[in-house]
Amino acid sequence: MSDGKKPGFFERLFGGGGDKPKPAEPMPPAKKEPPKDRPAKKEPPERKRPPKTVTAKPERKKEKPKASAEPRRSWFDQLRTRLARTSNALSDNLASALTKRKLDEDTLDRLEEVLIKADLGVAMAGRIRATIARGRYDRGLDEGTVREVLAAEIASVLEPVAEAFPLSGARPHVFLVVGVNGTGKTTTTAKMAHLFKRQGLSVMLAAADTFRAAAIDQLKVWGERVGVEVVAKEVGSDPAGIAYEAFERARAEDMDVLLIDTAGRLQNKSDLMAELAKIVRVLKKLDATAPHGVILVLDATTGQNALNQVEIFKEIAGVTGIVVTKLDGTARGGILAAIAERFKLPINAIGIGEGLDDLKPFDAQDFARAIAGAKSENEAAA
Ligand code: GDP
Ligand code: MG
Repeated sequence: MSDGKKPGFFERLFGGGGDKPKPAEPMPPAKKEPPKDRPAKKEPPERKRPPKTVTAKPERKKEKPKASAEPRRSWFDQLRTRLARTSNALSDNLASALTKRKLDEDTLDRLEEVLIKADLGVAMAGRIRATIARGRYDRGLDEGTVREVLAAEIASVLEPVAEAFPLSGARPHVFLVVGVNGTGKTTTTAKMAHLFKRQGLSVMLAAADTFRAAAIDQLKVWGERVGVEVVAKEVGSDPAGIAYEAFERARAEDMDVLLIDTAGRLQNKSDLMAELAKIVRVLKKLDATAPHGVILVLDATTGQNALNQVEIFKEIAGVTGIVVTKLDGTARGGILAAIAERFKLPINAIGIGEGLDDLKPFDAQDFARAIAGAKSENEAAA
């Protein structure tokens, strides 16, 4: 892997390069996917204009299935269940660190170690230790108290970065979905399409990961399930060409949102840089402000390695927001706090499963309480 450190790359990437858009190369019209009875067409003819910005808090309500008014409690329960691996691991370790009733240096050391192991990062672990050391726990420290301190500290770090996907007034609002292979980009792209569609927005997808036929087919299948059009071409096509064509079509069809799924082969960083840079350049030919969002998809199971990925993609793609996936399959959910603390980039949503409904708006309080194994705010108040 080349180190690819190029100062000024960001400017070249987003400063509107001089290259011609490449979609000039012969492009058969992308096949309509799914072919017939496109569910998108079933939308009411006079579509409601989208709100300019989708704000964080109300979104959770919109996200709920229309039919069953899911009570807030069960939403938290679901989150807690899906994050159980992280909270259980933390519980077990907390329990073994707090065997002595007395709060001494040794206990504090062990507590700090547990927090570092939970991927919260050294700085936060140190702060939590200090908070607890300052507290008056002469009569001993119980697990519940530690959980509360932990939840509060994690929430305070996450609160400033928890932000729903921002939508500009641009039509279409173009999202580029980036990240390393296998992190969940394609799945997240589909989930985002589903989320926006349920908010009453019209959505189009572009299959700009053309490296493998299976990757293209995967997005087509998702598109069919969600009921949105997928602009795709044959394997090996120029990803920038697809992005350009999809942008033109999304515009012609007056779409609210265009989501571009990309490849993430990091074996050769400079190739990936070049590919993403080219996609961005051609998008800018159509709209100098595009892409309006660059979403980095991170796999929570990779733990600390996710931090390196943020570093790299920040440099090569100008990330505007993060989605952390697979939080259901890992004990390393604490990584979110480490990411938030280090990069201060917005975390737009989290993936807690493989289904379309498993992309959740990121709520700092709920997330913090769920991984700390603390009660929900309601339960705590009761
Ligand atoms: P890509 O290579 O980045 O496009 O990754 P994919 O979208 O193809 O996802 C890779 C695998 O991760 C697939 O099997 C997905 O079903 C799975 N996946 C994606 N997001 C989640 C998630 O939030 N939870 C779980 N458990 N699996 C996920
Ligand atoms: Mg993919």
